[in-house]
Amino acid sequence: MSGRFAPTPSGRMHLGNAYAMLAAWLSAHQRGEDVRLRIEDIDVPRIMRGADAWIREDLAWLGLSWSGDVVRQSQRTTVYDDVFAVLRDAGLVYPCFCSRAEIRAASAPQEGDRFIVYPGTCRRLHDDDPEEAAARVRAGERHSWRLAVPAAHARDGIVLFDDRVYGAQRYDLGGDIGDIVIRRSDGLYAYQFVVTLDDLLMDIDDIVRGRDLLRSTALQIWLRGRLLAHGVGGARAVRWAPADTPDYAHLPLLDNATGVRLAKRERSLDLGALRAQGVRADAVIGYCAWALGLIDTPEPMGVRDALAVFDWRRVRARRGRDVRVPDDVVRELLAM
Ligand code: GLU
Repeated sequence: MSGRFAPTPSGRMHLGNAYAMLAAWLSAHQRGEDVRLRIEDIDVPRIMRGADAWIREDLAWLGLSWSGDVVRQSQRTTVYDDVFAVLRDAGLVYPCFCSRAEIRAASAPQEGDRFIVYPGTCRRLHDDDPEEAAARVRAGERHSWRLAVPAAHARDGIVLFDDRVYGAQRYDLGGDIGDIVIRRSDGLYAYQFVVTLDDLLMDIDDIVRGRDLLRSTALQIWLRGRLLAHGVGGARAVRWAPADTPDYAHLPLLDNATGVRLAKRERSLDLGALRAQGVRADAVIGYCAWALGLIDTPEPMGVRDALAVFDWRRVRARRGRDVRVPDDVVRELLAM
């Protein structure tokens, strides 16, 4: 059993990535577990050449170790194909011929994060006339594949879990999430599917990541149960009762000075830029430890020092409060 780093190599790591990885490392090590490194390079159009090596180099520079071989999703297509076939044979997925514009037009207005619950157009086609859907697939019509989740308010679609930072969570799969795409029309497998499957197959039991993925966790818990129920995971299906899920912790986000989440496209706070300006690894770790709520003021420290003060209760005390990183944080880091 282990924790995991699951970076997408779409650019250089920034302060927010270092913060989340530090928390994942601390959590696993406090449990006496190690951390696996999984490079999430499945979304080919988003991948930046060289980012995989930068990530490994930056993690090593920060002192955030991992164990075992690096797993790369781009090399696991045959595993995904096999499991996709299991879901298809079990009737858990269906082809969707809708364009994005059609989905947007048919959807109710959504909350602030622009998450769109699929209105179900092709689910009805699949339920009412599966032969026609199959014929359209055979005819080569462009399609993605969606996961058929329980309907809104259905009892088996209510997912409850306890987050170590945000506490008790309750999601209605049909109402809050809907039938997500697990295989895109360009043939690439989607995040929710591969991440759930890989976490299961890699024996990950400690998942730490940003709070933007809280809702995804509900879906992943449900999908994990479906995978186990259909025998995916072999011996794990016996070891993990469907009710056994990994422990989850979602973190407040690091925002820039204007309150927007730090992103890889803002190059000024990426680790390459920070390192080029002379920022030291122990300043980054200390700043991230402060952002996690582990220490009262940022001060340089190594990961072992951070481990000595790590306590989820302190992180929890920050609940709901994202951390604003000021524009002149580099000055602060250099002064540490
Ligand atoms: N590759 C995903 C990301 O970088 C990982 C999310 C997760 O931890 O599941 O956002």
